Amino acid sequence: MMNTPESRVPLIAGNWKMHKTIAEATALAQAVRDGISNPPPAEVVLAPPFTALAAVAQVLSGSPIQLAAQNTFWERHGAYTGEISPQMLVDAGCQYVIIGHSERRQYFGETNDTVNRKITAALSAGLKPIVCIGETLKEREAMETLGRISNQIQEGLAGLTAGQVERLVMAYEPVWAIGTGRTATPQQAQEVHAFIRQLLQDHFGAQVAGSLRLLYGGSVTPDNIRELIGEPDIDGALVGGASLKADSFLCLAALGQR
Ligand code: PEP
Repeated sequence: MMNTPESRVPLIAGNWKMHKTIAEATALAQAVRDGISNPPPAEVVLAPPFTALAAVAQVLSGSPIQLAAQNTFWERHGAYTGEISPQMLVDAGCQYVIIGHSERRQYFGETNDTVNRKITAALSAGLKPIVCIGETLKEREAMETLGRISNQIQEGLAGLTAGQVERLVMAYEPVWAIGTGRTATPQQAQEVHAFIRQLLQDHFGAQVAGSLRLLYGGSVTPDNIRELIGEPDIDGALVGGASLKADSFLCLAALGQR
């Protein structure tokens, strides 16, 4: 592959899930903005709930911190009660959008097909998708991890060009590690990350595989980020719980560099 790990800028993204009122989100975003070094040690992204996006966008305006939504629909507009289009997210100030988080797959019926549609729509709107994949505990115990990952990539990225895939960030998030305090070991994570990069190389070429950032997610904390990011194919983290407080998230951002 042409790109070395050092050429990929690490990315630390905080997924606030269904937490924070507008006032709380504004305060947390202000604390992160004011506490981050400029330029930041890694690329930093915050993903508040929809209701707080516009307010957080204002707080982050002029700072190096980027804004993400946690989900999107694939249509531009229309009679889709309760849905939000990628164009609306751009309007609210987003640069990124998380797509296919395991909680969406688990509780809201998202499939590789809906993930695929959402990626295409988000890219057309100019958003950078953070695409989540990962196996359940049952799949890991049945030695089906790599098969599951392969299926999520083949179907989730079906029909995309190398140029489109190059604009993605991907996050490997073993479902058993999300919100459980049970982090994958750096070796377990690296094994899957290397497999993902190889798959990307097979399908989309060495340039894409070498430049695309692959985040790890699942109970990342300031105590384990260094050893995870020390692995050659781990380019940052998607963080849930530890992103909800400014001090731990700032710590992660500071430590989340090679
Ligand atoms: C996540 O929400 O993507 C996540 C990894 O959560 P946590 O860090 O809490 O495990």
